[in-house]
Amino acid sequence: NLSKRLETVASFVPKGAIVADIGSDHAYLPCYLVHKGIVQKAVAGEVVDGPYQSALKKVKEEGLEDHITVRLADGLEAIGESDGVDTITIAGMGGSLIVSILEKNPEKLESVHRLILQPNIHAKFIRKWALAHQWEIIDEAIVEEDAKIYEILVLERGQMELTEAEILMGKHLLREKSDVFLKKWNNEVKHWKKVLQSLEKAESTPEIIAKREELLHHIALVEEV
Ligand code: SAM
Repeated sequence: NLSKRLETVASFVPKGAIVADIGSDHAYLPCYLVHKGIVQKAVAGEVVDGPYQSALKKVKEEGLEDHITVRLADGLEAIGESDGVDTITIAGMGGSLIVSILEKNPEKLESVHRLILQPNIHAKFIRKWALAHQWEIIDEAIVEEDAKIYEILVLERGQMELTEAEILMGKHLLREKSDVFLKKWNNEVKHWKKVLQSLEKAESTPEIIAKREELLHHIALVEEV
């Protein structure tokens, strides 16, 4: 059984897509996609040997070697031209790591129509990257699992505009304002206020003042919604 988090990622994979799952670990996501008949062909990429071996083992156990190619490679280097990959999933990493993977081999994105990204933290870095690289966020989801809250961003090529609040919290998620969304941002504001309190006690160096201002600004953005 797949986690709710990865199941939500899977729900955005178009039927018949050719998927590359980067940082696949046990290759749970590609195995699920093939078993469900959503995709026929997938690549599972891993940069670390341990998880790469786990992926190989899992794919073999499931008898999916004809459908899933497991590669030991850094980021998008796992994708070959002949694979015909049109959809990329990257889940379970920080937003900045996801962005650095996308930026490292931009030529690998040329044939790709859809990116499904699940940052554990800092989704805003992905939204900023999307804005700067002509990707449009066509959908977003937010789910809670084991007391953690995860955001899933779905990107296709296109133009969009985002306000500062939308970069931080997500245009679609803001529109929806689900219970999980409200919980996440209530928690964040509480946390920021605690950090602010501890900063008040610190010396007023320019860095501390800047940090304080940034926190106040973020709190104001979130409290407004
Ligand atoms: N995607 C799975 C999930 O969401 O459950 C696994 C997430 S796991 C926390 C992150 C995985 O990404 C690790 O197995 C790590 O080795 C892999 N990883 C990190 N940087 C990578 C990179 N540059 N290229 C490929 N894999 C990477």
